[in-house]
Amino acid sequence: MLKNRLDKNADRKKAVFLDRDGVIIVDKNFLWEIKQLEFIPRAVEALKAIPTDFLKIIISNQSGIARGYFSAKQAEKFNTALLAELKKKGVIIDGMYYCPHSPENNCECRKPKIGLFESAQRQFNIDYTRSWMIGDKSSDIQAGKNIGAATIQVLTGYAGKEEGSLDVIADQTVGDLYEAVETIKK
Ligand SMILES: [Mg+2]
Ligand SMILES: [Zn+2]
Repeated sequence: MLKNRLDKNADRKKAVFLDRDGVIIVDKNFLWEIKQLEFIPRAVEALKAIPTDFLKIIISNQSGIARGYFSAKQAEKFNTALLAELKKKGVIIDGMYYCPHSPENNCECRKPKIGLFESAQRQFNIDYTRSWMIGDKSSDIQAGKNIGAATIQVLTGYAGKEEGSLDVIADQTVGDLYEAVETIKK
């Protein structure tokens, strides 16, 4: 699924890191059933509008696996279906990374930690400082700040008001992913 585009001689690449639930698709709380996959209005158009010199990378916390609500296999099936659906609509996602742990696992990959970003960085040779993080939760925004990317909070999904939210303010706050991409293009 993940293409290795690393070229030692190439310049470091820019990326738009995207949260999945509440940004691209409707957050249905521990979502794993493919029939529940529902795009947020204008999200597909927004993904299409991301300038081509940015990689598109999805970074997602999926603690439903550690909590026993669904298996890693089910999560991967869902992600594969999502990527296939996007491809059908003309959107290629370059990378998709998820954390299967719960907060109690104290792993290095659950946002706001940066383990998943580091995996993407190694695979694609990404320059964080010219990259963006778009998310609906404060943990997305904190993760973006932790890697030194510019951050955009969208008001779809939790809009930064999730339980136990962090005291962090995004560089920009906009209505949805479409507006976030307009901001990047400016
Ligand atoms: Mg989210
Ligand atoms: Zn993790």
